[in-house]
Amino acid sequence: MLSQDKASLRIDAGLLDAINEAAVQTYPNEFVAALRAEEGTIREMLMLPGTISGETSGILHLHMLPIDFSVVGTVHSHPGHSARPSEADLAFFSHFGSVHIITCLPFDRTSWRAYNLRGERIELKVEG
Ligand SMILES: [Zn+2]
Repeated sequence: MLSQDKASLRIDAGLLDAINEAAVQTYPNEFVAALRAEEGTIREMLMLPGTISGETSGILHLHMLPIDFSVVGTVHSHPGHSARPSEADLAFFSHFGSVHIITCLPFDRTSWRAYNLRGERIELKVEG
């Protein structure tokens, strides 16, 4: 079982690359996805329509999430050079999941940050 704020949580390196690729493809819009974990490693994303910030076209459609306890959090892209959570992001994080990743320009392996539900930085080990 996953619990919140676990330093041992990991993310698959291939998924990280896929996240950045999706961010590039969606640019200059945000992309949003739910994250699924297996045995403490985030291995899969579920693309969702919508945005968190409302800067572009509305809100994330949370009702489209499967009812599935392997969903541990979310990832979204920022079409700028800051991976800091916005106020809308912080409000969103507090409602759903325990791990929230933001990736920003230039969308590479160094341009992402992970946060807990309070918007505090957490470490995610990259696996593989
Ligand atoms: Zn954001």
